[in-house]
Amino acid sequence: MQKSISLLGSTGSIGRQTLDVAKNLHIRVAALAAGHASARLEEQARAFRPALVAVYDEAGARDLSARLRDMPVRVVSGEEGLVEAATFEEAECVVTAVVGTVGLQPTLAAVGAGKRIALANKETLVCAGELVMKKARERGAEIVPVDSEHSAIFQCLAAGGKAARKIILTASGGPFRGMTRAQLSHVTKEEALRHPSWRMGPKVTVDSATMMNKGLELIEAMHLFSMPPEDIDIVVHPQSIIHSMVAFEDNSVLAQLSHPDMRLPIQYALTYPERKESLTAPLDLSEIGALTFEKPDEETFGCLKLAKKAAREGGTACAVLNAANEEAVGLFLSGRISFLEIEEYVAGALETIRNISSPSLVDILGADAAAREYVRARARAR
Ligand code: MG
Repeated sequence: MQKSISLLGSTGSIGRQTLDVAKNLHIRVAALAAGHASARLEEQARAFRPALVAVYDEAGARDLSARLRDMPVRVVSGEEGLVEAATFEEAECVVTAVVGTVGLQPTLAAVGAGKRIALANKETLVCAGELVMKKARERGAEIVPVDSEHSAIFQCLAAGGKAARKIILTASGGPFRGMTRAQLSHVTKEEALRHPSWRMGPKVTVDSATMMNKGLELIEAMHLFSMPPEDIDIVVHPQSIIHSMVAFEDNSVLAQLSHPDMRLPIQYALTYPERKESLTAPLDLSEIGALTFEKPDEETFGCLKLAKKAAREGGTACAVLNAANEEAVGLFLSGRISFLEIEEYVAGALETIRNISSPSLVDILGADAAAREYVRARARAR
């Protein structure tokens, strides 16, 4: 089990649940990092007494530093601050729970430092999967997924051995499962944020409603488990009890089941290969009654189709997909574009921005910036 962690993105949904797990398992939190200096971050620093706190926002870092004057803690800022937290000597494991592409550089730094990465930032692998996985192999850094589906696959592969034939990613279907395009054209932000089975942050909840989340997860799985996209199936399973499955050479299928509770995959990433008592309630299937499965509707939820296309194309296509989506979801959450426009904007970015094969980090960051600019310009011209 990991004895000390650095937690990037401590004030978000995954960050807060990671602190619950760390407290329960008596794991030392050596460093905390967050985007802004909130009252919550100060509270976390006082409760967990890390040696280092990184705040991305510089004014926020100065403010927090003043507020924590009475504590033996160093407060750092900016991207260098995030990188310092990601490579912090005292931490054995880095939990990357920041949302979005901002997680890329610190994750690469943590991989470079040979830390175990408990990876909750799917955007990192989506936009730079090849680079990150290659560097991890070179540095012997272990990447243990925190995303519930990937944790499930990781566990099934560990149990089933090498002869995996297919990954079966399960999807809840989100709050709009079964709806038509006409119905989707006037759904609101509040409706998109009401997820039927998972409690998550706003970005991933909207991604879940568009099903882009499953597309990003397919790309994430492709890199994590070196599986071509055509060998990754998606099945809608609204109860969110089976978190994913692996089919083996002999057509035997292994699955991992639990209540939908992110604290479990977070904990497994910290205790792997061991298991410990957790905060998750025991599963009683007779109480659940039925587990159902259906095919995803890619015609209605076009983001899933776009993600599969980007996965097959490779190069910088996934970085463009990811960045355009992140910007478009931000615009949707601030009420500036409609739900279906998220998909239109992402499709437009993929059509407009030239794909570069075997990209360097500079190419990836360039594609990311170009996609964001495309989305912002299109929204301005709206
Ligand atoms: Mg997931």
